[in-house]
Amino acid sequence: MIGIFGGTFNPVHYGHLRSALEVKDIFDLAEIRLIPSANPPHRDLPSVSAESRLKMLQLAIDQQTDLKIDDRELNRAGPSYMVDTLKSIRSEIGSQPLILFIGSDAFNQLTTWHEWQALFNYAHIVVLTRPNYHLQALNDFFSAHLSIDRTELAQNSAGKLYFQSVRQLDISATAIRDMIAQHKNPGFLLPDKVLTYIRQHQLYLR
Ligand code: ATP
Repeated sequence: MIGIFGGTFNPVHYGHLRSALEVKDIFDLAEIRLIPSANPPHRDLPSVSAESRLKMLQLAIDQQTDLKIDDRELNRAGPSYMVDTLKSIRSEIGSQPLILFIGSDAFNQLTTWHEWQALFNYAHIVVLTRPNYHLQALNDFFSAHLSIDRTELAQNSAGKLYFQSVRQLDISATAIRDMIAQHKNPGFLLPDKVLTYIRQHQLYLR
């Protein structure tokens, strides 16, 4: 099984990295790929270029062989629709199971994503939840795709919705950007090498 974790990573932080490592173990993934978004359709254009966000991801992962970066969205013009990314990965991996991991915040917006129902033609979706998180009412489409047995994901290429509780670190890129803008030190919320890069390039100072 291959897992992917999309985001703006503006900047990448330990919340992203820890979750990615954790799901690699929980789902016994052959690979977990972090996919930086170039032009996220749901938000303003990130304040920092795609190249810098990619560079920070590379610095964050460094010697960590358990995590990989997939930069295909940066090589594609137009909005970074996840459905196009999944199609493109699917065309390369044949019928291997593919899992798209998203946070519960992203799941709450999922029905606004471009061709959101088609996502399930190409991948399973696993929503990363907090321990004791209470599921919101699911619409009929989600209920029809819901699985409560993790082994079903390995047995099918795509099409299941699963909720997985992971250790949550209360870290967000927004909070890190705000700290930097206020000349506070966000150390220990993100890798030192990423923070050094941010300082060298004077990012997020506003
Ligand atoms: P921002 O604060 O700018 O919205 P972010 O920290 O939420 O950024 P994104 O790049 O937007 O980071 O998130 C990418 C993915 O990582 C999303 O699915 C999001 O839900 C998830 N995510 C973000 N922060 C955490 C965290 N602390 N723990 C687990 N998942 C996270």
